[in-house]
Amino acid sequence: MNASVVASTSADLIALEQCYGARNYHPLEVVISRGEGVWVYDVEGRRYLDCLSAYSALNQGHCHPRIRQALIEQAQRLTLTSRAFYNDQLGLFYRDLCQFSGYDMALPMNSGAEAVETAIKVARKWGYEVKGVPLNQAEIIVCAGNFHGRTITVVSFSTERQYKEKFGPLTPGFVIIPYGDAAALEAAITPNTVAFLVEPIQGEGGVIVPPPGYLRAAADICRRHNVLFMADEIQTGLGRTGTRFACDHEDVRPDVLILGKALSGGFYPVSAVLADRPVLGVLQPGDHGSTFGGNPLGAAVARAALAVIRDENLAANAAQQGAYWLERLHEIPSPYVREVRGRGLLIGIDLKPEAGGARRFCEALMREGILAKDTRETVIRLAPPLIITRSEVDWALERIARVLRMS
Ligand SMILES: *Cc1c(COP(=O)(O)O)cnc(C)c1O
Repeated sequence: MNASVVASTSADLIALEQCYGARNYHPLEVVISRGEGVWVYDVEGRRYLDCLSAYSALNQGHCHPRIRQALIEQAQRLTLTSRAFYNDQLGLFYRDLCQFSGYDMALPMNSGAEAVETAIKVARKWGYEVKGVPLNQAEIIVCAGNFHGRTITVVSFSTERQYKEKFGPLTPGFVIIPYGDAAALEAAITPNTVAFLVEPIQGEGGVIVPPPGYLRAAADICRRHNVLFMADEIQTGLGRTGTRFACDHEDVRPDVLILGKALSGGFYPVSAVLADRPVLGVLQPGDHGSTFGGNPLGAAVARAALAVIRDENLAANAAQQGAYWLERLHEIPSPYVREVRGRGLLIGIDLKPEAGGARRFCEALMREGILAKDTRETVIRLAPPLIITRSEVDWALERIARVLRMS
């Protein structure tokens, strides 16, 4: 047997992607073939610490055995029924998710963008049926620098030119205000405002942490004006920032909570919208749906993923390791660093303009055995799985320090 038929090098596999794949990504040149916990291995067997965690979808770490077992067992029994019938997993998932988050009801989808779309639909219908906004006049307030996904409606209110410029005509009904500015929110509210959609920390936007008290103030303003406070916690939720949800830091309970990513621990796309009955109860049979949303395989996986977050105290570990990591990063002398910021294990190293962009630093980190991804040109985002240990953090810090001092 000719070995070259079965064994492919990283270079071969990259060439294949470049030959047949649409070029909508620009990956770092590493081809990962195996993952375990915080570590991944490339085709040649080199080991890397995963400091991206698939944009926080892998809070539980790669191939978590408990979630994997749930997936295998469920895959051997039943994977998909469609919602035309009940299945024996969805009710259990609803119960666990509502108990974990403290909401009356949940609506399961698959990708994060779909959950955001769902929240927008719910807010609009609530606006017409409950708040009494004239039909087709609903406005939703969003923030500059937001990232909520890639569908046409969601990119319609992005402030990144590339995300929307040539994809019009765009969906109307959105008002953009500066992030972190509660007064701007109050000023933007009109009688037709149905919701304020916000990330508690802007992840893709460059790990932007709003001023203390912002979420609290924004939630209070929304309540006073009968506007739904909708938190997109797809990236910040499920332990990432050191609490169950990032809104917990300011004791804010959003009217609508949007989850995705780590909700399935990286095994299978599962997202959800959570709210109480007066809000999510506006949806009637036929209003909304998804062939795969709420499928038994996803439900079983997500239940296990939630159980791991709870039973392994991942939020507490994120708080502890994240605080240590941030503190140590502040001590690294570097001519390139403008600011280090973050919360829990969502950390951004913002580089000075003269640093030449974050990508070359991510490439240097890769050569040191750390996988991280630049966001918004100048920011290195560090977001490892929440199971990371102190000694692994130290291992990473040594290498990060080396790279931040490079010339
Ligand atoms: C990743 C992300 C999304 C989109 O999720 P997809 O699963 O990629 O559609 C939406 N909002 C936030 C805050 C995200 O980080």
